[in-house]
Amino acid sequence: MQSRDEIYVNGKWTPSAGDGSIDVVNPSNEAVIGSVPDGTAADVDAAIAAAKAAFPEWSGRSLEDRLGFIEKLGAGLAARAEEIGALISSEVGMPATLSTMIQAGMPAATTAGVPETARNFDFEETISRSLVTREPVGVVGCITPWNYPLHQIMAKVAPAMAVGCTVVLKPSEVAPLNAFVLAEIIDELGFPAGVFNLVSGVGPVVGEAIAAHPDVDMVSFTGSTRAGTRVAEVAATNVTKVHQELGGKSANIVLDDADFDKAIPSAVGAAYLNSGQTCSALTRLLVPAERMDEAAELAAATAAGFTVGPADDAGSRLGPLVSQAQWDRVQGYIQTGIDEGATLVTGGTGKPDGLDAGYYVKPTVFADVDNSMTIAQEEIFGPVLSIIGYEDEEDAIRIANDSEYGLSGGVWSSDNDRAIAVAKRLRTGQVDMNGSFLNTDAPFGGYKKSGNGRELGRYGLAEFLEAKQINLPLG
Ligand code: NAD
Repeated sequence: MQSRDEIYVNGKWTPSAGDGSIDVVNPSNEAVIGSVPDGTAADVDAAIAAAKAAFPEWSGRSLEDRLGFIEKLGAGLAARAEEIGALISSEVGMPATLSTMIQAGMPAATTAGVPETARNFDFEETISRSLVTREPVGVVGCITPWNYPLHQIMAKVAPAMAVGCTVVLKPSEVAPLNAFVLAEIIDELGFPAGVFNLVSGVGPVVGEAIAAHPDVDMVSFTGSTRAGTRVAEVAATNVTKVHQELGGKSANIVLDDADFDKAIPSAVGAAYLNSGQTCSALTRLLVPAERMDEAAELAAATAAGFTVGPADDAGSRLGPLVSQAQWDRVQGYIQTGIDEGATLVTGGTGKPDGLDAGYYVKPTVFADVDNSMTIAQEEIFGPVLSIIGYEDEEDAIRIANDSEYGLSGGVWSSDNDRAIAVAKRLRTGQVDMNGSFLNTDAPFGGYKKSGNGRELGRYGLAEFLEAKQINLPLG
């Protein structure tokens, strides 16, 4: 049991002003594995006051001084990667080996990469008669989800602190324990008091208190489009800058000259990573209409190889969903797919045989999906792939763009120039060619209802900066 009974404010572990707590459940077996304080608006006030007080000194330090802390933080996360990987595996349900690699490895690497990005960043430039400076935005409220919990946190916290911002973090109440390990590492490294503050709790209380606070200069939000919209509404009262990384319903286009035997199995993997609980998951697979049956057969055969089971079982390729609520939601979508007339090729509703405790879902493939169906339009966040047929390249691009989201996408072709031409026409922030994947040095973010702004690399760093023109004397 990891029972955390204090939040981290102004460089100290501190009791919450409230007396509630939130249980953390292991989705593989439904056992309670820990708890965190159910924070309050008063906790947020204290954390923001600490961050505000720490800002002048922290932002006034040299870049190198701050980067020294970030370097140590990257190393600190890497040193505890095994433990963090296992912890997140038990919070989220991702198979353990994968979790250590992705859930622990990625945030450590992202953090370790920030100093080089910052050293190569132009914080000053001259534009005709002006000196233009890029300055830290101030106090940043970070609100994060559960699916890649520490990655989402570090993508915000590391660059924000590197450029001189101070932060108040509200991690997801579903997978918050990893954020407490982060606070422990920050505490041990001796970051100045108030630079990093952690308040656990639920969105409508702690999240909204952060978004509504007049002393917060920016909110960096990752999560659902629903909650992200609410955060922006609340923050608008104070004209607070809001960065949003939201949902997706990304299309993977297999062009007619692609190698189907490679493309389809890879496409199934791109939809099922983290049991489909990935914002950039490629959940719509677009194939030439006349090859629908071939694609469905290949996808079903691949899905059969995704052994479902507990995250700590070495034989599991697909862990459970994170919670009962997610399980119920995904079951509802699978039933809707059937009801709306899509062909269920494999999977379906109910739990896989022999897995009664835990939030397990059968790896599911639907064929003959029309893009207007609910399962093609809404983010399911489960291992559910929808295969959609297209007439020609133009039709494929039209279908891919016929979505209120625009986060990611894929193009498969034996002709790179053709694939790039298609990629450029997709209204989306990322396109993976022939099964390629996220580059954490390049900008990540969404078009349309998938968000505003970009995270990671120098684009991500720039989000935490204000630009100022200093006009040099005339003549
Ligand atoms: P969520 O929106 O339910 O929660 C995200 C965070 O927002 C949590 O910390 C939650 O407590 C908080 N929150 C909820 N309601 C709030 C409110 N009214 N005011 C302020 N804060 C509030 O999302 P989730 O279920 O944790 O994560 C899944 C969603 O996140 C999916 O839609 C997924 O696509 C999205 N996501 C996006 C990205 C991206 O980078 N684009 C990455 C990961 C996840």
